[in-house]
Amino acid sequence: MREITKGVKSYVHKFASNEAVLANVENVARMLGDDTLSRREYEKHGHYSYMIFIKRWGSWNKAIEAAGLRPLSGRRIIRRRSKSVGAVLRARVFMRDNFKCVWCNRSAQTHDVVMHIDHILPFSRGGKTEFENLQTLCADCNLGKSDVVVASQEIV
Ligand SMILES: [Zn+2]
Repeated sequence: MREITKGVKSYVHKFASNEAVLANVENVARMLGDDTLSRREYEKHGHYSYMIFIKRWGSWNKAIEAAGLRPLSGRRIIRRRSKSVGAVLRARVFMRDNFKCVWCNRSAQTHDVVMHIDHILPFSRGGKTEFENLQTLCADCNLGKSDVVVASQEIV
């Protein structure tokens, strides 16, 4: 029964649900007041080992995306910020809003616009990635917001 602590810890990690693991990632990001999270920050504050994310999601970026966070790095990815909301949640918000921008009422069907999911209260100000705090916006309305986050994050 040597190394009990270590044994218990790996047991916890092995059987932790994806939801629990991702929730921990989201909590750390929220604690840091950001809508994305670097591997280094997570290793400093997080509960689970980095490898668990690689094993389950293939990459750190995919893992934090699954947690509803904005992927790290490039501006190209930042513009696709809507992907930080999980697919199921996205679909629910789109359906509730009838696939229309809640500000200008346009839709991808009637106009040549790209639809985004937007945090009503920005994530960086404590807004949650949850149904009630999300809305459908077209790209024009969404990117016209003053609140566009441009963070320079390290690439993992
Ligand atoms: Zn719009």
